[in-house]
Amino acid sequence: MAVTGWHRPTWVEIDRSAITSNIKQEQSHLPDHVALLAVVKADAYGHGMLEVAKIAKEAGAQGFCVAILDEALALREAGFEDFILVMGAVPVEFAALAAQNNIALTLFDVEWLTELSTMKTAELPLHVHLKVDTGMGRLGLRSMEAVKEIEAAIAKRDDVVMEGIFTHFATADQQETSYFEQQLACFREVVDSLQERPAMVHCANSATALLHEQGDFDAVRFGISMYGLTPSPEILPILPFKLQPALAFYTEMVQVKELQPGDHVSYGATYEATAQEWVATLPVGYADGFIRAYSGFHVSVDGILMPVIGRVCMDQCIIQLPQKYPVGTKVTLIGGPNSADEAAQHVGTINYEITCLLSERVPKKYIH
Ligand SMILES: *Cc1c(COP(=O)(O)O)cnc(C)c1O
Repeated sequence: MAVTGWHRPTWVEIDRSAITSNIKQEQSHLPDHVALLAVVKADAYGHGMLEVAKIAKEAGAQGFCVAILDEALALREAGFEDFILVMGAVPVEFAALAAQNNIALTLFDVEWLTELSTMKTAELPLHVHLKVDTGMGRLGLRSMEAVKEIEAAIAKRDDVVMEGIFTHFATADQQETSYFEQQLACFREVVDSLQERPAMVHCANSATALLHEQGDFDAVRFGISMYGLTPSPEILPILPFKLQPALAFYTEMVQVKELQPGDHVSYGATYEATAQEWVATLPVGYADGFIRAYSGFHVSVDGILMPVIGRVCMDQCIIQLPQKYPVGTKVTLIGGPNSADEAAQHVGTINYEITCLLSERVPKKYIH
């Protein structure tokens, strides 16, 4: 069991109204017939799956997408009766469990269907969405023949229903669209070649949903931008509306002290004070998701940036202050001027990973 630190002043704040606003804004850009599916995999990108699912549903999301079957089962266990698609690969032995729970699975391999013995144990048929690899090179059927073969195989069974077909773009978050257009054309061609168009034809992640018309599709899979983050810094200037980041990560100074020239800080004694200076110890470290690579990054206090000095430890780190501050002063670790995008840039990663890294040790508080 992961222990959550309710008795330590380090916490994540999640603004419900930001998530609601991001969903409603996106929906106002979508034709009425296009469903918004909230992507809540990976504990809702670190925002808390069940709470986000509730917020998203209230905001108008018409279903959920997750990566693994356990996430879908957790939603069902919590009482969500909405549409759920598992986008990752599920071992065939768990197909009946998915069917019993009315959870749609992703089908990307005809072998999987062959191995699926009859689903008579389940009262409900298994709903599947065909995944077409149009250029992502990750999961999916890779040829028109494979799609046709699997469509024919499904048609022969009464325990499997082909509810949808989808693809995923590799470059939707780039301004240059030629590779994207190629994938889109390929997907359209595959869909047009089907004997029967399934109920849910979908291709859009956040970047696609934000930047490209969805009129001839039935749903979008809205992930990162539901949380108010841009799919990439590159498309920030061309987003159709202002995203509102939902997550902020806070702590408080637990010790404030004055260093003398020559004093050192943290493991390896890598930081040495060259003058008298004020520093503060923060009760947060890499075990919380405030990773070692944040050494040299900054946090903020009332919008004033302050550098993280020395090595970030497992449970603590030290920041340099411009002046003496009282113990208990609130510090923003991620949020405001030191946004997830800034943190990602410092570390050489993407904002997705910044929020996913937050550990269960950090309690989540939902506001608004
Ligand atoms: C995670 C995922 C999404 C959501 O992507 P965002 O960029 O977060 O919107 C959509 N589709 C698939 C297949 C995914 O794996």
